[in-house]
Amino acid sequence: MKFRNFKMVSFVVYGRGSFNQLDEILAPHRKGDAPMIFLVDHFFENGAPTGDGKSLISRIPLRGKDKIIFADVTYEPKTTQVDKLAKQLKDEFGTVSGVIGIGGGSTLDLAKAVSLMMNNPGSSADYQGWDLVKVPGVYKAGIPTLSGTGAEVSRTTVLTGPTRKLGMNSDFTPFDQIVLDPELTANAPVNQRFYTGMDCYIHCIESLEGTYLNEFSKSYGEKALELCREVFVNKDKWDAECDDKLMMASYAGGMSIAYSQVGVAHAVSYGLSYLLGTKHGIGNCIVMNHLEPYYPEGVKEFKKMVEKNNIDIPVGICKGLTDEQFDTMINVSLGMKPLWENALGKDWEKIMTREKLRALYEKL
Ligand code: NAD
Ligand code: ZN
Repeated sequence: MKFRNFKMVSFVVYGRGSFNQLDEILAPHRKGDAPMIFLVDHFFENGAPTGDGKSLISRIPLRGKDKIIFADVTYEPKTTQVDKLAKQLKDEFGTVSGVIGIGGGSTLDLAKAVSLMMNNPGSSADYQGWDLVKVPGVYKAGIPTLSGTGAEVSRTTVLTGPTRKLGMNSDFTPFDQIVLDPELTANAPVNQRFYTGMDCYIHCIESLEGTYLNEFSKSYGEKALELCREVFVNKDKWDAECDDKLMMASYAGGMSIAYSQVGVAHAVSYGLSYLLGTKHGIGNCIVMNHLEPYYPEGVKEFKKMVEKNNIDIPVGICKGLTDEQFDTMINVSLGMKPLWENALGKDWEKIMTREKLRALYEKL
């Protein structure tokens, strides 16, 4: 097919307090006494409150055999973690009515992958790639508690597997339902909120400056960029309106890259993440800090936002690495062909040589 035909999220609810409708939203999707599984970011395990002061956990509408499982997101999701969770659920319940992910991008990705692995045989590592998933998963819903990754709308779930870090990209991957309640992001720490928010900003720059751009991507990308600017450039103090805007920026930023691609910051940051375990948001920021030659205006504005919001961006993280380690990062990064092609055009291999990429990694 010449034009990509996208499967989107089926249902979206947006608004402060919309989380309170969860019971009603899930009711039609309950299958007999098969439970709903709430996969919740471990940040909320000790009763962390959400907007209205009540703990998030106390607000989860548990019925019958429903279960809360806390997702350990100390490290970004792994295929082994997904397989273990799916096996645990199959052993305990046989089948479940659905998997509801509540958390940052890592928890949302885990929820999507576990839902798929409830119905697909083998290991999630077998499905890292494009359109390898052949059977729909169980019902899945995503409820973000951080804004920026766009994982709530994307058709992928990024997993680190035995040989690579790659998503399960498929028409079966998008959520059946997302609940966008900006109150849930209210207590995110300033640095984390910035790193994840910058993931969205960087998605926009990479999409808008990329060669894959079309009007669909541009329309969403420009709106997301405008919202990022409103919260990180124009506002002097973070408030509820910022949470509202950043949640919609994340959604629009995710929609923008659905039809285009990310670019240099992501391609380079994937190498860091694979070798050093650097997390996605902060890794993108570390790289973006040095990308003036590729995105001059975007990097200038990025630096302004870093300064205005008083954020620390680590430097010197590649100091003392061996040639072999640099080679590993370069291999992972150059393997992200569509990202480079989007950023630099069809002849990208002539532009981004191994030597040039090594020099860039040495700066980080
Ligand atoms: P995250 O989910 O990794 O969470 C970062 C930290 O914030 C964790 O310690 C978490 O416990 C904590 N946290 C979450 N919500 C919080 C809250 N409300 N208050 C305080 N702390 C909170 O961070 P992220 O930046 O949202 O997600 C990054 C992940 O998303 C990576 O694994 C990346 O690969 C993935 N990602 C996926 C897509 C996609 O399309 N599927 C796109 C971009 C990124
Ligand atoms: Zn990203």
